[in-house]
Order: sequence, then C-alpha cells, then structure tokens
Amino acid sequence: MRCNYCEWRCELGPDTYGKCRMYYADGATARERFPEMWSTYEVSRIESIPFYHVYPGSRCLATGTSSCNFDCKYCSNAFIAKQDPAEMQGKMYRFTARKLVEMAVKLECKSIVFNVNEPTVSLPSLRALAIEADAAGIPMGCLTNGYSTPEATELLASIFTFFNISLKGLADEFNRGCIGIHSAQPILRTIRRLAETHHIEVTTPVIQGANDHELDEIARFIADVDPEIPWHVLRLLPEDEMKGAEYPDIERIDRALHGARKRLPYLYFHNFVGSQWVDTLCPNCATPVVERFSLGCGGDRLQRFSCAKGKCQTCGQVIKILGDGSL
Ligand code: SF4
Repeated sequence: MRCNYCEWRCELGPDTYGKCRMYYADGATARERFPEMWSTYEVSRIESIPFYHVYPGSRCLATGTSSCNFDCKYCSNAFIAKQDPAEMQGKMYRFTARKLVEMAVKLECKSIVFNVNEPTVSLPSLRALAIEADAAGIPMGCLTNGYSTPEATELLASIFTFFNISLKGLADEFNRGCIGIHSAQPILRTIRRLAETHHIEVTTPVIQGANDHELDEIARFIADVDPEIPWHVLRLLPEDEMKGAEYPDIERIDRALHGARKRLPYLYFHNFVGSQWVDTLCPNCATPVVERFSLGCGGDRLQRFSCAKGKCQTCGQVIKILGDGSL
C-alpha cells in the first residue's frame, strides 16, 4: 500500500517503513511503528516556538516524536530528525495522550505545541492527542514543513488550531540541493489551504548564499495569500552537513527585507540577540501593540502587551491575534 500522509507517497509493507521510517502497512492501513512515544515534553513560552500572534506570553506544553520526512542539509535537530527512529526509542517517553494532556493542565499550559519534528510522521498519535486536548479545552498548534498531501492536510486541519509552516525557499534548485525535495509547490498549496480556515504563521530560515536572494519573492507569495500572515525570517546558523557554512549577515538580510516590509505588516526578523524586529506594530498607526525581546536561539519573550480585545489601543485597528491577551 502507499502511505498518503506526505508527498513522498511511500510504498509501505509489513517490514517496509517509508522514507520517515515511522509507518508500516497493516493490510491497507498505514500504522505507526512507535505510537505515543514522545522525544520531549517541556513548558515553553509560546514566543520561543515561535508563535507571535497566538496567546502572547502564554505557556505551552512543547512536545515532539522522532524522525522527519525531509533531509535538510542544515538541520539543527538532526539528532532527532535524522537518526533511525528505532534507535531513538530507548531515549523516548511513553505517555498516553490523556497523560500528556493531564500534564499540560497541571503545568497550566494554555496550549500544546508539536514543535520538535514533522507532525505528518506521527499523525495517528497526534489525532489521539487532539481528542483528549479538545475534551480538556486545550488548543493544539504545530510547526510543519507543509509537505503533506491534500488528504493529510485536512487531517492536520482537524487536529491543530494554529500552524507555523516553514517555507524555506521557492527555487527548485534550492529545494533539491538543501532540502532533498523536488519542488516547493506542495508546501505552497498547504499554506494556501490552511490560511483559508486556520491561524497560520510562516517561517523562513535564511541561509546565506542559498535562499537569501529569494526573500522578496517569498514575501510576495505570502502577501498574495494574505498580507496579515505573520512572517518570521530566522537568521539560521547552519548545522549538520552545513556546519561550515557562512553565518547570515544581519545587516545584509535587514536590507534584503526592505521591500517585504511594505507588503507584510507582521514581518519579524529574529533568532539573534537584541533583534529590533520582534515587536508587533499596528499596521495603521505604527504604535507598538505587542513588544518582545529576543535572546537569540528561540529565546524570544513577551515584554508588553497593549492589544486588549485584539485592538490597537491608540487607533482601534484590529490586530490579528489568536486569544484575548489573557494568560
Ligand atoms: S509520512 Fe513517511 S511513510 Fe508516509 S509518505 Fe511521508 S515519508 Fe513516506
């Protein structure tokens, strides 16, 4: 049988596990090899995931499983994403979905966020988690690479309330050379689809000399879908196979984002200490409505929230924010 969770559409068998090595065929059904096995669970601030327009300042239970369906050469999570998941199992936590949700409640988390690896490699466990989370009134969010099939995207839409979709680059050459996929088209389709019904943010990790020349084109695409989509441009420090690559130059990227800032009012440039591009400004009067500070390496924090009821307190402009600002 073919797995239709992502665009690799791998052939699965009883002992054939697909590219991600996370599923096997049980008759005509794709089953998880390692259900309800979690690589981590910890309390994070939602800004550090990053989500900037979702319950600002709130605590979330961040979790993940193992493996991935991409081969990013710069992966900063290779020890989880690229390792054979069978070899990871001795280091994993076995929790039922109910137990994980109970922990989220006990730790006073506003949401549960799947942020370590790609959710399409663990969809049945995440569906079970969503049922329990829904019963407890806890919304779920995730980071995803957006390579899901249309059917799996609908499944993701039924599981998660909010998404941060990674759009790493548009050019086929970049996607083939740095990610290992043929085209970004499935990712663009996923962004368009989820933006119709869900809160989405988009993240682009910038790798100097690889995708920094595409920033303007990526901004045009996002603005065409919805100019109010928050866009995170992350200064990525390449790891894994690109560990020796040049670190992205902050001023150079800042200049490259000049045009994009006119198109996307909620554009952020961060993942380095002291970024000046982490506040949300009112698109109408430019008053800072959500102020943050960046400690780099996903250490962003809320500093001040001046957006009660999702409106700029100076001019009344509606600001795209999930939640009412209460923690
Ligand atoms: S989720 Fe895994 S097994 Fe299924 S198509 Fe994608 S890579 Fe292949």
